[in-house]
Amino acid sequence: MTENPSSEPHSPSMRYARQIRFAPIGSQGQQAISARSAVIVGMGALGSIIAQHLVRAGIGRLRIIDRDIVEWSNLQRQVLYMEEDAAQMLPKAEAAAIRLHAANSLPVIEPIVTDLVPHHAEELLTSTDLIIDGTDNFSTRYLLNEISVKYDIPWIYGGAVGGSGMTMTILPGETPCFRCLFPSPPAGGTTDTCETAGVISPIIDIIGSLQAAEALKWLSGNRQAMNPALLQADVWNNRWLQVRMDQSRRADCPVCARREYEWIGDHNVHAPAAAALCGRNTIQITPDKPMQISLETLANRLAPAGHITVNRFLLRIQLAQSELSLVVFPDGRALVQGTDQAHEAKRLYTQLLGQ
Ligand SMILES: [Zn+2]
Repeated sequence: MTENPSSEPHSPSMRYARQIRFAPIGSQGQQAISARSAVIVGMGALGSIIAQHLVRAGIGRLRIIDRDIVEWSNLQRQVLYMEEDAAQMLPKAEAAAIRLHAANSLPVIEPIVTDLVPHHAEELLTSTDLIIDGTDNFSTRYLLNEISVKYDIPWIYGGAVGGSGMTMTILPGETPCFRCLFPSPPAGGTTDTCETAGVISPIIDIIGSLQAAEALKWLSGNRQAMNPALLQADVWNNRWLQVRMDQSRRADCPVCARREYEWIGDHNVHAPAAAALCGRNTIQITPDKPMQISLETLANRLAPAGHITVNRFLLRIQLAQSELSLVVFPDGRALVQGTDQAHEAKRLYTQLLGQ
């Protein structure tokens, strides 16, 4: 027994003392942070940084969504993950939840291993105070943007490639939306990606930390402190730029002006949809409708075809006759590793899972 309850390791007043001392947050702001929630979509490099800031800061509830598993090439910059996570092929959301809980056991952390697609995006993203972008692709960002505008939930965009990155906070009805800034996705092959340009870890820490700072402002009730500008940083060529966005709302924006939501809903889900994952020589296959697969039964059935590893979350088979491997999740989603050819990936998927 201790006489001073504030010396308990779990006492919020002690744990968050330095943050409470920071005047714009104070104890009222801290209470607000601890009562509120956020969703991070994508738990790669940016997601790792953002999540650990918010969990250490004492957010009430954090949902983390990611479709991928931890791989060795992630460890250079995805700071939540350790070698053992890659060796055990843990899904990122699950591995992240373990680390985050170890840093602070007070917040409720909800790991969700899935690809955020239109048909369940509203279900997963609307019961929250804030959406934060940890993704690496435009189509998911368009989806986040439409959910944000339709349900009046702010979201914080962030992206990094090479040595540079950018971030902007989208406050529906106030700032331009993402579609105002980027009316159409860049044509394939015209922009740098992690695959073509690589990425260094410090720029990710910077962009992710800026996103986390914006999140803390919002969650603590400091809306007036939020950055109205698009911020660009290049740590290699020493350039920092704040681009004012006051005049950038487009009167003809299909999303925030006309409220036409092209990315929400079922219309663009075709099965099995195949998508290349950035920088990975991997194709993701998503079945038409989620399935319920018994990984054990599947392991027995596929045993003659190659070397199989199973854990609580997934099954991986390294084919005996080729360089390809297939990672299958219980809902039927799969990652075909060792190819960037969608047709080859689909063929293997159909061969092994019979859909
Ligand atoms: Zn707009």
